[in-house]
Amino acid sequence: MSNSDQNSPTLIGLGRNELGETFAALGVPERARGMRVAQIWNWLYARGATSFDQITVLSKDLRAALGERHSLARPEIVTEQVSADGTRKWLLRLAADRPGAQGPLVETVYIPEETRGTLCISSQVGCTLTCSFCHTGTQPLVRNLTPAEIVGQIMVARDRIGEWPDARAQDPTGLPNAERKITNIVLMGMGEPLYNFENVRDAMGLAAASDGLGYSKRRITLSTSGVVPEIPRWGQEANTMLAISLHAVRDDLRDELVPINRKWPIAELLDACRQYPSLSNAKRITFEYVMLKGVNDSIADARELVRLLAGIPAKINLIPFNAWPGAPYECSDWEQIERFAEVVNRAGYASPVRSPRGRDIMAACGQLKSASVKERASARRLEAAAS
Ligand code: SAH
Ligand code: SF4
Repeated sequence: MSNSDQNSPTLIGLGRNELGETFAALGVPERARGMRVAQIWNWLYARGATSFDQITVLSKDLRAALGERHSLARPEIVTEQVSADGTRKWLLRLAADRPGAQGPLVETVYIPEETRGTLCISSQVGCTLTCSFCHTGTQPLVRNLTPAEIVGQIMVARDRIGEWPDARAQDPTGLPNAERKITNIVLMGMGEPLYNFENVRDAMGLAAASDGLGYSKRRITLSTSGVVPEIPRWGQEANTMLAISLHAVRDDLRDELVPINRKWPIAELLDACRQYPSLSNAKRITFEYVMLKGVNDSIADARELVRLLAGIPAKINLIPFNAWPGAPYECSDWEQIERFAEVVNRAGYASPVRSPRGRDIMAACGQLKSASVKERASARRLEAAAS
């Protein structure tokens, strides 16, 4: 039986060298390894195999040997929610750190639009940073995601929307008729990706392989709160598109909203942006700006924003604040967002407001995971009341 136990270590997330080592450990002679690696790579990352049985290009014995020690497991789907607007959100359980313990939860969101489909993935469980408007920031860092868990989110999403060749045959429970597919990957889920540098870099290397998952680096965007020393390194080692969570134009306010600003203030952050490799009109940095009522949404703020960014090939993304229980802010009024956007527009930045998606399934940063924690707490209360 070559169908593996899903608890065995997964091959998802391994690069070619590690796959070569896997075959070496199974006794595949060196001269045959290159071909075996190419074959399994294709089945893992281009065709989305979920069981070794599918990989008939490998001999039965080799499939059985793989299945005894390994799996092709992805993170486990705890819930899948589909919004009225087509946004999908998955709550995923990762492997537990100790036997018997429950693994931590992360979220992944798929946002279909007219001309593209964006997958928003997480890089950490929780976050070490404490941005005051972000729900993830209220959760302590539990741990970094491994490359397998980062790439695994892309695999799960592709499984579920049927984005593999022969998807219907492979996974009859999938949703192969989804109209829109994943064209863009954004690291805008839970966590600060530059504080999990190597794992995120390796995972994005796998995501960008043209003979595998095949997302061009122009279609992968890393969002950072501003870990300044890691920005040039990311440019050198990964060089995907970059988004910066700016959110304020003055250091005193940004110190409060995005506390990492106390370490690396706005001027240093923007210097790092100016030096990011190969910027041009076609390759711009996205500046994210959450709209907080009466906090950072004045017309003077809008003018200062365009002044600060002058000379940097930039896009501006105004994000209506997604409220969460106990949040100390409100979203700016729509008229104010429009007035702010007009200043930004007149300075030459096109369609700057990010339209809210998946509101009915709470697709905002950190919301789903917390909802599940709450559910568990209320289930406990119910149990206590019943006993
Ligand atoms: N840690 C990274 C990436 C994850 S957050 C970063 O901070 O950039 C992705 C984006 O969502 C960031 O721009 C973040 O500031 C924004 N965000 C967080 N909480 C939000 C909320 N409640 N409403 C709107 N945007 C939010
Ligand atoms: Fe962390 Fe980003 Fe949230 Fe800040 S906005 S707490 S960096 S996830």
